[in-house]
Amino acid sequence: MRYAILGDIHSNLSALEAVLEGIRADGVDKILSVGDVVGYGAAPIETIQMLREIGATVVKGNHDAACVGELDMTYFNPYAREAVDWTAALLSQADLDWLSALPLVATLEHCHVSHGTFSKPERFDYVQSIEDAEPSLDEMRLPICFVGHTHVPVSILRLTDQPERTGYTLDSEVDLSDARSALINVGSVGQPRDEDWRAAYGLLDTDAQRFFVRRVEYDIDCEAARIREAGLPNMLADRLFLGV
Ligand code: ZN
Repeated sequence: MRYAILGDIHSNLSALEAVLEGIRADGVDKILSVGDVVGYGAAPIETIQMLREIGATVVKGNHDAACVGELDMTYFNPYAREAVDWTAALLSQADLDWLSALPLVATLEHCHVSHGTFSKPERFDYVQSIEDAEPSLDEMRLPICFVGHTHVPVSILRLTDQPERTGYTLDSEVDLSDARSALINVGSVGQPRDEDWRAAYGLLDTDAQRFFVRRVEYDIDCEAARIREAGLPNMLADRLFLGV
């Protein structure tokens, strides 16, 4: 079975289209999204529509929750807050209901999916260290959990022969055959922050027991223009070129 896992899309339609083209070439059976479908970018309607069309399994991110009034925005930066307000005003009630109905965690045959952590998904905490990952690795019922939120790809692993030790790798190809448990951040489709502007997505091949981080180029000029034309902060367009 092959899963494609889409991290933080953030209403970036050009990046999503490029990723879906890559996924078609990969021959994927199932598409997952770790949430933050909307926020920051200027194509939330099209993004939601596309995810529904492809039958993706989607969990709720903090920007999705904020758009439907389920999350206090005190800790959002002013740009993020402005984009959330803009998105909430634009979306139809049906789209808002779809966002509101997203679960915090999805469990499939081979993996869990959550936005921040598996252990406390409702807190939308960031996994930025091995310590941050430990409670999720302790509580996972399946060997793999995909997350997003930081927009930086990383695989945090416990190996079968050393279950008491947790390590991590930034490699874009990870052998999972010796992994007892793995918390994997798939990076971001629509707003990468690892100084690589290309859209990122994850690919899990359960037969080969391998995970890959894929990168694809997309029409960044088109998406930046869409953000500027929408009247969203210029900074949200500029950062796309830098991958920050
Ligand atoms: Zn995000």
